[in-house]
Amino acid sequence: MLGFVRVALFAILRAMADKDWTRILGWPGYKVYRHELDERGKRLNLWARRKRSDRQLVCSGCGKLVSEIVESYEREVRDLPCFEYLTTVVVELYRVRCPGCGVRTEKVPLLPSNAPFSKRFEDAVGQASESAAASRAAMQFGPSASTVRAVDQRYLARWSQTRRKPALRQMGVDEIYLGKKQKFVTVVSNLDTGEPLWFGAERKKETLDEFFRTQLSAFQRGAVRAACVDMWQPFRQSI
Ligand SMILES: [Zn+2]
Repeated sequence: MLGFVRVALFAILRAMADKDWTRILGWPGYKVYRHELDERGKRLNLWARRKRSDRQLVCSGCGKLVSEIVESYEREVRDLPCFEYLTTVVVELYRVRCPGCGVRTEKVPLLPSNAPFSKRFEDAVGQASESAAASRAAMQFGPSASTVRAVDQRYLARWSQTRRKPALRQMGVDEIYLGKKQKFVTVVSNLDTGEPLWFGAERKKETLDEFFRTQLSAFQRGAVRAACVDMWQPFRQSI
């Protein structure tokens, strides 16, 4: 029975037209123009390119709109699996000539890094890593544990850039001893949320000065109500 279901499913997948695959893939602005199924290897390959109506190209250097295309090229990325099928998308991309930056690749939100994975795939790996070890996330998605860790770091960096950070009202400053070679790092944390905010090398007045200078605006500095530090003099001087 299960075998029959599988054969039927395969027949459905094979009979599907590229326009159906376009809808299933669901990449905004892109259409599937070719697909390939490998039943034995359980692999699905889709070829996608921009819809003709969507030719708003963005320079990856400066983020501005550009109109001059130098050439097109193909990039192969892993996307989320489809049923039992490991899914690869071969996507057509452009190199553009930007008045400010010269020849650059176009910026595509679906492909946030140079690694061969779609954003959706990286998000799923990152989310799986929140609740499981990298080795388990790797088993679930296929890439090696080290790849999962790299994907997870990019996922967290993007998450950190876009999320709203709670205001810093009560700050904690502490130092961690890392051993003879690296000595100390300074850790600034938000005591309201219990979240570490920033790490700096050593434990000098300049270390903490750097935090205040680079991480907080004048307004944010003024909003800090209390600071909890130990008896270490340089921190108190900085505050
Ligand atoms: Zn540019």
